[in-house]
Amino acid sequence: GALKIRDALKEELQAQGLADKVAVIETGCMGPCAGGPVMVIAKDKTFYVHVQQEDIPVIVEQHIKDGRPVERLCWKDDKTGVPVPVQMDIDFFKKQTKIVLRNCGLIQPTSIEDYIARDGFAAITKVLSDMSQDQVLEEMKIANIRGRGGAGFPTWMKWNFTRKSPGDQKYILCNADEGDPGAFMDRSILEGDPFSLIEGMTIGAYTIGASQGYVYVRAEYPLAIERLEAAIKSAYEMGMLGKDILGTGFSFDLDIRMGSGAFVCGEETALIASIEGKRGEPRVRPPFPAVKGLWGKPTTLNNVETYANVAAILFNGGEWFASYGTDKSKGTKVFALAGAITNAGLVEVPVGTTLGDLIYDIGGGIPNGKAFKAAQIGGPSGGCIPKQHLNVPLDYESLNELGAIMGSGGLVVMDDDTCMVDVARFFLEFVQEESCGKCVPCRVGTKRMLEILEKICAGKGEMSDIDKLEQLGEHIQQSSLCGLGQTAPNPVLSTLRHFRHEYEMHIKQKI
Ligand code: SF4
Repeated sequence: GALKIRDALKEELQAQGLADKVAVIETGCMGPCAGGPVMVIAKDKTFYVHVQQEDIPVIVEQHIKDGRPVERLCWKDDKTGVPVPVQMDIDFFKKQTKIVLRNCGLIQPTSIEDYIARDGFAAITKVLSDMSQDQVLEEMKIANIRGRGGAGFPTWMKWNFTRKSPGDQKYILCNADEGDPGAFMDRSILEGDPFSLIEGMTIGAYTIGASQGYVYVRAEYPLAIERLEAAIKSAYEMGMLGKDILGTGFSFDLDIRMGSGAFVCGEETALIASIEGKRGEPRVRPPFPAVKGLWGKPTTLNNVETYANVAAILFNGGEWFASYGTDKSKGTKVFALAGAITNAGLVEVPVGTTLGDLIYDIGGGIPNGKAFKAAQIGGPSGGCIPKQHLNVPLDYESLNELGAIMGSGGLVVMDDDTCMVDVARFFLEFVQEESCGKCVPCRVGTKRMLEILEKICAGKGEMSDIDKLEQLGEHIQQSSLCGLGQTAPNPVLSTLRHFRHEYEMHIKQKI
């Protein structure tokens, strides 16, 4: 409903003779989706939530003309319910650290001038005029950023493999095929700050020696595509893409390729096949894309969030970036908070922030007087974390120990009304449908597991079914070709690990 509010505001300002004094700026996501539509009065940083068309006259009359915030529209403190007018006094914002989302909600997403005013393209200017490819790699190594798409592979190492691969033509790709249920991190970056992706990819291209890049984005994200297209066009017009960028002799072209909603196309070799116009199926590795990728040429692939960090790292330095996070996992991570949580939305915190801090201090806790039961992290490839582990630091190592993964950042919170067997069934159903069918363990194994889960949920399960689920799950993990199959059983295995009694209850009580 934000666009209607925007139009109503413009009309009201026109009617009040203020149209030439007050600019109405449309931004990308500011984060607190549960409070939408939201509006910030930039002059005093008052943050309004749940704004309706009928609120517009009073906002203009009382606030814009008289300078008195409209209290009833202000954010209410999660614990006390007291209105908190100023944006940075609100816990939801105060407790975040924004590197990736540094511009989201602050700039007009397709305005290159807005981006430049926030130090946009300063990093690529520095890189192209003062830094060798080795120096960029060294800075990325000091930053020690790990790929934000899920696997957590060190980005500098990935870039270095492609850089060292022989070949006169190399490619750089961006995976914007975000398909996890409950995840909207990449979409929000593309919608809110597409230039940060363009700048990050251009720096990556220079470093590995690529002259062509593609952003593979899902067709279900029309606004993200529209804004990215507009941003690419502006970057070409400004000479930040194309031939001889900034007169340095470095040339780089960037295009968009649209996916068609296949979850498996998030897997790098399937994504590459899809760009080549083939069926999006994973293939055996090696050879890895760094050696033989798009059209058989050395290729680097990272996701949107990884690239959105790059300009900030090169502008501020690797040590600055590495000052955030934990010993082994540096920087920040964007999470999409969804499910049974008060402040559902998009947040960014230093890696290593505990799950409890994220859910209670920023997320505002569980609504409707319910208690926290578990969080599913990492989407359908991830696992669930029960309440006894609320103090787990959200970093790659700690989550792996619990049988979960960081994944790309989807975090679905569940309250005590949730049936964990049903949750496992939901995620398994998803991956089963999304399996490309190329290899037997994933194609047939997930189908058999789903049948067992459906049997248990229908009250017809037997105790031996639990063993079968575990055995099948382990076999599928070990023998599937790609990451989709290798992680498909995770939600079942992790709910069995932490909520086995719920499976047993279904079976014993025939419910
Ligand atoms: Fe396809 Fe599943 Fe095999 Fe991956 S593991 S190649 S998705 S069948």
